[in-house]
Amino acid sequence: MQIHSKLPDVGTTIFTVMSSLAVEHQAVNLGQGFPDFMMSEELIDLVDAAMKKGNNQYVHMNGLPLLRERIAEKCFKLYNSNIDPETEITITPGGTYAIYTALTTVLQPNDEVIVFEPAYDSYIPNIEINGARAVRISLHYPSYSIPWGEVRSKVNERTRMIMINSPHNPTGSVLSEDDITQLRSIVTDTNIIILSDEVYEHLIFDGIQHQSILRYPDLMERSFVCFSFGKTYHCTGWKIGYCISSAAAMKEFRKVHQFNCFSVDSPKQFALADYLQNEQAYLTLGPSIQTKRDYFRKLMQATPFKLIPSHGSYFECYSYGGISDMNDKDFAIHLTKHYGVATIPVSAFYKEATDNKVIRFCFAKREETLDRAIKRLTDFC
Ligand code: GLN
Repeated sequence: MQIHSKLPDVGTTIFTVMSSLAVEHQAVNLGQGFPDFMMSEELIDLVDAAMKKGNNQYVHMNGLPLLRERIAEKCFKLYNSNIDPETEITITPGGTYAIYTALTTVLQPNDEVIVFEPAYDSYIPNIEINGARAVRISLHYPSYSIPWGEVRSKVNERTRMIMINSPHNPTGSVLSEDDITQLRSIVTDTNIIILSDEVYEHLIFDGIQHQSILRYPDLMERSFVCFSFGKTYHCTGWKIGYCISSAAAMKEFRKVHQFNCFSVDSPKQFALADYLQNEQAYLTLGPSIQTKRDYFRKLMQATPFKLIPSHGSYFECYSYGGISDMNDKDFAIHLTKHYGVATIPVSAFYKEATDNKVIRFCFAKREETLDRAIKRLTDFC
């Protein structure tokens, strides 16, 4: 059978490549972003209870109404944002699906989408599969901040969307209020739509406030904002998230969604609706994951890897330029195979594999996992 590939330049995602290599070589996996500690037992019990109560059939295609109401309450509490749960929120099977659906909802052939590199690896293929064009702009290295002057110079009548992501994967950089001001000055009086990937909204450290698009009604009108329960409740394998947009945009989003997944795992939606009432569970997330980051950071000081400081997400990036001349992909493979620590090479997030000799570590792990990894890294250096 012959298939004319829609994504001829795309291989297997780096997360699967590195996780498979980690298994093959019994490496400590600090590559793919997932916690290795237990999620809340209470939340698991709530799923169990929902299933036993018989909540096992389809819920509404837009998501369980009670869950959407509780999400709207949370948005109001955190961001002072008035979201209508009926028309402006859709539950999705994960954040990546929400992003794909938003892009598919909007993009027409030859539209341009501004993306910042390093960019999460699904973004550009998701744009291209819709016949649109990714206009790539490199974040400043090593601060990984947005060069707004360049953004301004690349905006034209074909620019349909700008994608932002804060806290940022893979670098952990976060957007400031000034970034929002810059973004606003670029999109005001245009038809540009913002796609804001905020799956790490609660994973923000050092006392910094998350600059959610939900805080800004004028920007919200032209945005799709994507979230993930997997990141908030340490259950990445559950694949549940949600998208928020204006009612008019959400109407179109739902046309795409209804014929793709239709509706998301019911018992988990009942459980999440209940669990969202416990605001401490998400409010304490930042400080508790920061403890892990600080622990990891301190241990890494014993190695010659050089920290590229950041303030959010599950990740920290380190430069290994002082250790090896290998390109980052070969270096990450070498580290996994011969020293038993898997990481992610940051060039995987650039279409042209830009190699700054930087690798990404996931620190959302138990202390003993981090200890084991650092012991191996110390032996390596
Ligand atoms: N978001 C996760 C990461 O950055 C990976 C998810 C996936 O493997 N698709 O590591």
